[in-house]
Amino acid sequence: MCLFCEIKNGNIPSYKIYEDDVCLAFLDISQATIGHTLIIPKKHFDDIFSLDEETAKHIFDITRKISKNIKEKLNVSAVNILNNSGELAGQTIKHFHIHVIPRYENDNLKIEFSSNKLSPEQFTDLVNKIKL
Ligand code: AMP
Ligand code: ZN
Repeated sequence: MCLFCEIKNGNIPSYKIYEDDVCLAFLDISQATIGHTLIIPKKHFDDIFSLDEETAKHIFDITRKISKNIKEKLNVSAVNILNNSGELAGQTIKHFHIHVIPRYENDNLKIEFSSNKLSPEQFTDLVNKIKL
């Protein structure tokens, strides 16, 4: 069974900070920065692509609340909210989860974006392809 299902079932211990009927939040075992938290749905979904709408709405609202609480209690002014969906994106545990990563001065965490330049035509083509 998947690791996060085992955590949800209580078969593997975790440092829980929040729980309700739908989701569970616990400290990441590897603290990218102090307070690094994972939020998971109790029901198993592999990734963002299979997550259902109701759970998505709930879990994002809980992410918001947990972020605000961390901001206040750990006295931070910034967080990164991150989800890796798919191996290429760096997902290592195939149970959907959101990372809340508090940011500190000089925390040495690197979340970097490369800057690909597109022409106006390329932007327009892209919009035509992916607009909802
Ligand atoms: P991802 O790479 O997005 O799939 O993230 C998986 C995260 O799960 C990593 O940040 C790991 O440090 C974390 N992790 C792995 N095992 C455990 C565990 N037993 N308890 C808490 N977090 C874990
Ligand atoms: Zn699972």
